[in-house]
Amino acid sequence: MRDFSDGKILLVEDERDILEMVQYNLEQAGFDVIPAEDGETALEAVRETLPALIVLDLMLPGIDGLEVCKLLKQDARTRDVPILMLTARSEEVDRIVGLELGADDYVVKPFSPRELVLRIRAILRRMQAEVRDASGTTAEEIRTGPLRVDLAAHRAFLEGAPLALTSTEFKLLVTLIERRGRVQSREDLLNSVWGYEYAGYGRTVDTHIRRLREKLSGASDLVETVRGVGYRFRPEAS
Ligand code: CA
Repeated sequence: MRDFSDGKILLVEDERDILEMVQYNLEQAGFDVIPAEDGETALEAVRETLPALIVLDLMLPGIDGLEVCKLLKQDARTRDVPILMLTARSEEVDRIVGLELGADDYVVKPFSPRELVLRIRAILRRMQAEVRDASGTTAEEIRTGPLRVDLAAHRAFLEGAPLALTSTEFKLLVTLIERRGRVQSREDLLNSVWGYEYAGYGRTVDTHIRRLREKLSGASDLVETVRGVGYRFRPEAS
């Protein structure tokens, strides 16, 4: 079982000033950092040592951050390594965290190093919790309507067909199902799924809900919008 608590962080950033600033702050926070200044070096580094997490700049010379992310998420050996994207353009956010790329989180430049450290810790905590769940001895399963969720294997099935969910989408789905019938505010979901106070990032929840619904396709109405409040998983018909 991989341990996410003491792994290295691969930091990919072509702007030397930012690279050095972030590396310094991560090291101050107690992380081991492998720096890389372009996508190719990053991919080589990942093949050499599987990092606990990758901080990946979007705009890179050569193979850009989007391509690096896509390649890593396509490869079974690297698929589960969480990726936090750095982007200067907030309009890229939907693509980054969505279906297309499956990055685990993002930070928009300019960002405070403190915020970045908080985000990294939150992702690693989440991964650690998932490892603990997956190593549990009892396989747990939730069935609701056309959905079956295998908590031990971290897989969800819609009418028997596996859903390709990112780890965040899976956690979001499970959180909604476990509180089925009860409205969850964006803040509730941010706290439960992302694991810390993420105030002001309600858009992150909306983006993930939209992607989750897309993947639920015909069953997307299981996740209801409660206008002005948040979201609710449809209660089972009694
Ligand atoms: Ca850049």
